[in-house]
Amino acid sequence: MSSKTKTRLAIIGAGPSGLAAAWKLRDSDDLKITIFDKSRGVSGRAASRARHGLRLDPGANYFKTDLPEISGLIHHQLPQDDLVEIVGDINVFDAAGTISAGDPKLNAEKKWTYRNGISTVGKLLAQASGCEIRSGVRIGGIRQNPESQVWVLKDDAGEKLGYFDAVLIAIPAPQALDLLAPEDVGIAAALSPATYQQQWTFTFGYDSEKASWPGESYALINLDRGHDIAWLSRENAKPGRIPDDTLGVMAQMSPTWSLENFERTPDELAAEVNQMVAPFLVHQTAPEWKWFDSQRWKFSLPIGRVDLEKAREVESCGAYLAGDAVVGKGRVTEALQTGLDVAERIRENIVQK
Ligand SMILES: Cc1cc2nc3c(=O)[nH]c(=O)nc-3n(C[C@H](O)[C@H](O)[C@H](O)COP(=O)(O)OP(=O)(O)OC[C@H]3O[C@@H](n4cnc5c(N)ncnc54)[C@H](O)[C@@H]3O)c2cc1C
Repeated sequence: MSSKTKTRLAIIGAGPSGLAAAWKLRDSDDLKITIFDKSRGVSGRAASRARHGLRLDPGANYFKTDLPEISGLIHHQLPQDDLVEIVGDINVFDAAGTISAGDPKLNAEKKWTYRNGISTVGKLLAQASGCEIRSGVRIGGIRQNPESQVWVLKDDAGEKLGYFDAVLIAIPAPQALDLLAPEDVGIAAALSPATYQQQWTFTFGYDSEKASWPGESYALINLDRGHDIAWLSRENAKPGRIPDDTLGVMAQMSPTWSLENFERTPDELAAEVNQMVAPFLVHQTAPEWKWFDSQRWKFSLPIGRVDLEKAREVESCGAYLAGDAVVGKGRVTEALQTGLDVAERIRENIVQK
């Protein structure tokens, strides 16, 4: 097939879902895929940052490979040299901060990340897909020409980025709603039920002679949702990340606390969060941090879920949806699976037509 007759597919979002779709479609010679992402790097909320000479993951902490197709992808099809297991249980704590043992069944499941950061999953998919990725380009609007059925994408300055036969929207649903033209009522109806919670993440580096983690666990999770901290983890449990002289502790704050404090600055909040973290560490007085890092997520984890019936209906106009909003669960694995699934339908509907 000549390049002129290739079907042009735009993927909005180089997170796990968009990249998994691109990877699955990598051998479709009759498809020309362009991925757009507003960030400089890939992998979305499965994010890693170079900070204080270290690699920190302020978004997704780890992923499991319990879904068979994802297990095949991670353990066989993508390179595994950098893949590492996070050893240690996830215990639980209540509103009063009392710690107890976590669910043994869940703790028996392996938790994975990459030595160089969880964003490696996105980088590996991007590399293996071989697609053109236009990083640092924020899509500002999409519109379908009612006669030609061709989609036009514009950036946030209103500049045209190109014409496409189909578009895969693989970004958090509220961000996707902002891109739609007024006539895109079908896509809007599909996306609307999926809202997201907000979240602050803080990571502290403490002198390991002055503060230590309580026991051998990897993390502590607040199950009754009564504590201002939702998740606390010992980042040293991730192989190769934190040197022995430092205790790396990540605190992901509760949605309620995050919302209440969303507009405050990291410098204002760090001391308060440190005070909340202190009682969980072996040294009960608030230890002084050597460094801290923070990230504010406007769209952290989905609360609702995309209307799947309506999402299928809009596929006939060449609009496809993927991402954690489609499953209503903030999980890397599930997001990857939505990308693989939607790629199958794209292949059936537009490539093999
Ligand atoms: C604090 C936090 C903790 C988490 N913990 C875990 C965990 O422990 N385990 C787990 O499995 N999952 C966890 N998750 C959830 C996991 O990160 C997500 O479910 C997963 O990344 C979703 O992938 P996605 O492809 O749907 O979207 P994303 O990862 O959000 O990717 C979307 C991409 O689209 C880009 N984008 C957005 N708008 C535009 C636009 N207008 N134009 C161009 N590009 C755009 C973004 O830059 C991003 O790269 C966590 C998430 C957060 C925030």
